Amino acid sequence: MARALYIHWPFCLKKCPYCDFNSHVREGVDMAQWQGALLADMRHEAEIAAGEPLHSIFFGGGTPSLMPPTLVGALLEEAEQLWGFDPAIEITLEGNPSSVEASNFAALAAAGVNRISLGVQSLEDDTLHFLGRLHGVDEALRAVATAQENFDRVSIDLIYARPGQTGEQWAGELARALSLGTDHLSLYQLTIEPNTRFATDVRLNKFSPLEDDPAADLYALTQEMTTAKGLPAYEISNHARTGQQSRHNLTYWRYQDYCGIGPGAHGRRQGVATERHKKPENFLASVEASGHGIKTERRLGTSEQASEALLVGLRLAEGVDLAALATRFGIDRAALVDAERLALHRELGLVRQDGERIALTSAGMPLLDALLGEIVGDGLVSA
Ligand code: SF4
Repeated sequence: MARALYIHWPFCLKKCPYCDFNSHVREGVDMAQWQGALLADMRHEAEIAAGEPLHSIFFGGGTPSLMPPTLVGALLEEAEQLWGFDPAIEITLEGNPSSVEASNFAALAAAGVNRISLGVQSLEDDTLHFLGRLHGVDEALRAVATAQENFDRVSIDLIYARPGQTGEQWAGELARALSLGTDHLSLYQLTIEPNTRFATDVRLNKFSPLEDDPAADLYALTQEMTTAKGLPAYEISNHARTGQQSRHNLTYWRYQDYCGIGPGAHGRRQGVATERHKKPENFLASVEASGHGIKTERRLGTSEQASEALLVGLRLAEGVDLAALATRFGIDRAALVDAERLALHRELGLVRQDGERIALTSAGMPLLDALLGEIVGDGLVSA
């Protein structure tokens, strides 16, 4: 049964040039209409996947910090009615660190949000400009301070491995971020995603992405500095003090069920993959016509689920327990991974194994995508 709920808010004030999320810029957003549609979509999920109290809710986007706190409150109230809340529920909202949004933090906390994830992205004004962000460094720092006054838990996102970035630059910026005293950091390397403005810029030679070797050096530097400050990586890009990991995101990486509502949201419940209509207008039309925003609903085979569980589980420092995975999906343990290639990568120091548990080492993590293709059993991949 799903104990995690994801709510997607698809609107942003401006599209960032690197962003391939389901985010849209619209002149006016009818909040009453959106409240009605999201509540209907939520009720539909609860009819199928109610049963146990929720232990996490995540408002992602888009820019959910642009949602009126009354709308956030109405959604939380309904979720509590439908599922009930675990007493230690984690309720996260993603936000941008602008002064306008920070002025809503107290009201969002009063509505029930207890964790905020702020898209600071850089502590250099020039870089924020390059990334197309609307905030500056001083404004972001003030928003972090306001967040720390209002929420129990604060996380900040930064983007590194930017064009031409040196170890010295990144070390200074990361040290400053670590000094802010948040218990969680999401540190993403800049990747050039297809169909973004940055992809066009690279094609037109406006800039070149950082090459793999310097990017790997910056990754190693990141591990060293965050570990020294007591925030080691628990996932390839996510760092936390003990007990401060994102409970909601661990649900995905441990391949547990979650409901996803709102435009473009994905869900996994009882072996069924759900996906909502991405475009806001199509989502609203679907809710109007059928009472929910689902575009596709597909039962996954056990091999496909095992493959997905391996792919997401190996992002985690804790890795995956192969015997437990085989039992969970009723699959032959030998089919999960390619034993020969696993042994080879163990010898190369890219994978570690402790009994049935395998995990990537910090040398293996930057090679995650390539290693997954090597290790995951051929039978599963083609399943
Ligand atoms: S604010 Fe976030 S979701 Fe919106 S366009 Fe920028 S990166 Fe994408």
